[in-house]
Amino acid sequence: GLSERLQKTFSKLRGKGKITESDVREMMREVRLALLEADVNFDVTKNFIKTVRERAVGSEVLDSLTPAQQVIKIVDEELTKIMGSQAVLLNKAAKIPTVIMMVGLQGAGKTTSAGKLVRYLKEQSQARPLLIAADVYRPAAIEQLQTIGQQLAVPVYEEGTAADPVEIVKNGLQQAQDAKNDYVLIDTAGRLEIDEQLMDELSRIKEVAQPTEILLVVDSMTGQAATHVAEGFNKQLDITGVVLTKLDGDTRGGAALSIRAVTGKPIKFIGSGEKLDALEVFHPDRMANRILGMGDMMTLIEKAEKDYDEKQAAELTRKMQENTFDFNDFVDQLEQVQKMGPMDEIMKMIPGMANNPALQNANMDPQDLEHLKAIVYSMTPQERQNPDLLNPSRRKRLASGSGRPLPEVNRMIKQFKQMQTMMQKMTKGNFNAMEQMMGN
Ligand code: GDP
Ligand code: MG
Repeated sequence: GLSERLQKTFSKLRGKGKITESDVREMMREVRLALLEADVNFDVTKNFIKTVRERAVGSEVLDSLTPAQQVIKIVDEELTKIMGSQAVLLNKAAKIPTVIMMVGLQGAGKTTSAGKLVRYLKEQSQARPLLIAADVYRPAAIEQLQTIGQQLAVPVYEEGTAADPVEIVKNGLQQAQDAKNDYVLIDTAGRLEIDEQLMDELSRIKEVAQPTEILLVVDSMTGQAATHVAEGFNKQLDITGVVLTKLDGDTRGGAALSIRAVTGKPIKFIGSGEKLDALEVFHPDRMANRILGMGDMMTLIEKAEKDYDEKQAAELTRKMQENTFDFNDFVDQLEQVQKMGPMDEIMKMIPGMANNPALQNANMDPQDLEHLKAIVYSMTPQERQNPDLLNPSRRKRLASGSGRPLPEVNRMIKQFKQMQTMMQKMTKGNFNAMEQMMGN
């Protein structure tokens, strides 16, 4: 994914205080590629890059992040923003029924999504919806809707394939009035591409039905084409929202970004499967992660920012206060921080470690950590708790037990003792000593 690519390309920038223009230019090349790969529209990508670049150039790199992580964070935040930041729910009519009109190209998932929405509404608010079958061009379409109606125990209004769709809708709405249905979902016909005849029919249905919601159903797998489809439907019908289907495949979801940017209309739901329960409220932040292919990256960054600072530091402080920080904790700490990313960045987050000479030159790559662990694991429980026991003969034993050279064992024990001393000084409230240690 993009995040890995950025991290790899920019690992060399680690430790810089500010992100420069040329750093950003290089990073933006990666971002652009990732967005285009995710099928984000070209113009949308261009504008997006511009926004991110302006924000990223000159921004201070947070202590806890690498420049690449910082840029990923900005990209993620801007992606979320451009997709609307917040989930947007369905509007409700002032008086029943709330009419929802499903529109879109053939095969986009209108009929299926109508069924999913009915299920969703019943679950959310014990709604009593009516489905109207206004796709008269494909005989199977009515049957498909009836099957869905049966599955959900919801009535389907239909007049076969010979009637005029506008009349069907008019009559169906009358039935809904009489039966006091609180929601009406109109399943309309689609075409393989936008044509005038279809748009004309949909406009007339809109006029008759006065829908509260016109939901455009778009197949996310159609990639770039999805943008043009959305633009066309929105121009003709002034849609109120979008259902983005088939996100259960391996599509990156770039369509969400393009559609929102081009139409200004919110994505309200996503379809994530063929079954009727495979409908989710659209969350811009989750989609941003998906587009970036970041996996756990944001979680990691947030962890680095919050969790670590708070929980880990609190635990460490407690150990320091109780003066029970031992080799086990030492390895624990190192292991915890190793999970979070580049070692030298993370080490700085350990309280008092930022400028600790004992660790500053320690090149903490994962290999080194493995070696440190090997040494600690060669210790007896008593030795782990009390490093003073580690006389020369025990150290020799550790060296052969761990397969590490004796000088390395000695160096590691020295580092540990320095850390312990520092902690003792800190807990005695000797803040001068602490400041000295931290080089402030
Ligand atoms: P319509 O022509 O717009 O009414 O489209 P349909 O509702 O008939 O759906 C077309 C095909 O797409 C059907 O085979 C559906 O099962 C499938 N489909 C619809 N939504 C989804 C989705 O979110 N995920 C997957 N995997 N398939 C979907
Ligand atoms: Mg259909």
